[in-house]
Amino acid sequence: MKAIRVHEFGAAEVMKLEEIPTPKPEAGQVLVRVRAAGVNPADTYMRSGNYALKPPLPYTPGVDAAGVIESVGAGVTRVKPGDRVYTSGSVSGTYAEFALALEAQVHPLPERVTFPQGAGIYIPYATAYRALRQIAHARGADTVLIHGASGGVGIAALQIARALGMTVLGTAGTEQGLALATKEGAHQVFDHRAPGYTDAILKATGGRGVDILLEMLANVNLGADLKLLAKFGRVVIIGSRGDVTITPRDLMAREASVHGVFLWNISPADSADAHAAIAAGLDNGSLRPVVGKELPLGEAVRAHKEVIESRAFGKIVLIP
Ligand code: NAP
Repeated sequence: MKAIRVHEFGAAEVMKLEEIPTPKPEAGQVLVRVRAAGVNPADTYMRSGNYALKPPLPYTPGVDAAGVIESVGAGVTRVKPGDRVYTSGSVSGTYAEFALALEAQVHPLPERVTFPQGAGIYIPYATAYRALRQIAHARGADTVLIHGASGGVGIAALQIARALGMTVLGTAGTEQGLALATKEGAHQVFDHRAPGYTDAILKATGGRGVDILLEMLANVNLGADLKLLAKFGRVVIIGSRGDVTITPRDLMAREASVHGVFLWNISPADSADAHAAIAAGLDNGSLRPVVGKELPLGEAVRAHKEVIESRAFGKIVLIP
């Protein structure tokens, strides 16, 4: 089978398209014929070698994928060959024609969700759900600011927040991203590159501030975020790429809090909670992953550069 392989950590160019043996599922494993693989920023951090998780070399990148069960190992009962599934991780990596996964790492993909959309489910939707529900304990009456609403996690958060009945504000850095955030559920949108946009956000809440703020780039925004919080407000840091200065008094006066999220920490019980909510949302159409770009598997290098360097517009997916 064709697969992207990484033999040394480094820049995007360390990824090579190679021919390797197709794996066979052992007991408790399944083989997925990958129809689309999702590209996440975390895939680039892992490939660089500067991330909390460092896979043993050589390896095939990729956590998210959607496809069809090709074969199953002994003892597998939840899925059978021919079933449409999305993955939440795998044993062998998803940037490939086939991916080996544990039975617990595959989840039903409803007919209404395309394979490219399915490749944009797990990391974005489970992270957004964990941040909103499991960490910030979001309630329908809350106002949330999704700071970075045009990318994979931001769009997932918009849709989940709307499904919960929340008042939803979102930011993006392009006209196209702002229009997408509006289409996917933001009641009001703000350009995070425009001077004074944080004043406009505060004004949109009548000066009260937001109850929850999901932050995609904390190293740039956290100091200002704390001034946008309502009393008892919660910031959940989803993304950060450096250091930042904050004014602790902004937290004290509000009895506000800052939390981090790291999807890899999710417990089996929290994972079951997230997958149940995602399944219901995919089924009833309230959760609809947005695919911004489909690239052939051989263009993984370009995909890794674009997911970090380009302005976001939904998900980038690789098609084997
Ligand atoms: P993505 O699809 O590339 O989207 C990035 C988002 O960040 C876009 O909405 C982008 O908006 C926005 N952004 C850019 N500059 C910004 C700024 N100055 N202020 C606020 N937002 C800004 O990436 P993603 O998959 O959604 O992931 C977002 C971040 O969360 C990444 O850093 C990723 O590594 C992290 N993440 C963390 C976890 C975890 O477990 N902690 C899980 C998943 C993702 P424009 O392009 O429109 O400007």
